[in-house]
Amino acid sequence: MAEPMHAPDPIKPTSATQAPAEGAARSRSARSKSGASSRVSAGVGGFSQATGYPEAVDRLINELARLPGIGRRSAERLALHLLKSESAVASSLASAIGGLKGAVRNCRVCFNLTEQALCAICADARRDRSVVMVVEQPRDVLALESTGAYRGLYHVLLGRLSPLDGIGPSDLTIPQLWERLDDAGRNAGGVAVGELILGLNPTMEGDGTSLYLSEQCRRRKVRVTRLARGLPTGGTMEFASKAVLADAIAERRGMMDESEASE
Ligand SMILES: [Zn+2]
Repeated sequence: MAEPMHAPDPIKPTSATQAPAEGAARSRSARSKSGASSRVSAGVGGFSQATGYPEAVDRLINELARLPGIGRRSAERLALHLLKSESAVASSLASAIGGLKGAVRNCRVCFNLTEQALCAICADARRDRSVVMVVEQPRDVLALESTGAYRGLYHVLLGRLSPLDGIGPSDLTIPQLWERLDDAGRNAGGVAVGELILGLNPTMEGDGTSLYLSEQCRRRKVRVTRLARGLPTGGTMEFASKAVLADAIAERRGMMDESEASE
């Protein structure tokens, strides 16, 4: 996450100064598209030598351009839009971003995003707390919840195993998953977990993570199932349709049954 952004000074350009600035932005965008360096170099009098923007604007553009899906051109457009907006618009955006890290945290049981100690799902006594579905990211919880087909709890790994990138079990929330399985007191409502559903994305790393988890469950008294293969291989859950996800939940099958049958 980028460090909190600061609103640029509320500069109110007149229409006379605005037009050339937009023209300059366009020609700069064209240059950066053709591969010109967009690095910032120390400027004279608070202006960046590389881009010609005041340093406050340049800094905002750099921060915005680090966000996923925002290229340099979009970042420039957003920054210039904020510059033109009422100062209240920029202040309210800055305070929303500033408040993000303070208010949002991970649920202490399942690591879903929440503003409370427990997320809404873990806190809901109507959910079946004996069933836990393991997913990679909070956005997978959103996708699965949108189906309305699942009434159990989740465990968000916050990633997946990736030995090539040096990501092992302790870099994820896997130790906390074992604590949750081994001690009912660590699960929501103090209910013992009876079934673990592996709901990882059907990618090579997702499959590797599923295999690791199911092997680690062999000595635990928990039924391990995985979502049915309705999901396109290599695809991700967040882009699957609700119907496909609902089928994948309903048609889930036992991991142990399969591996024992093939032995
Ligand atoms: Zn939770």
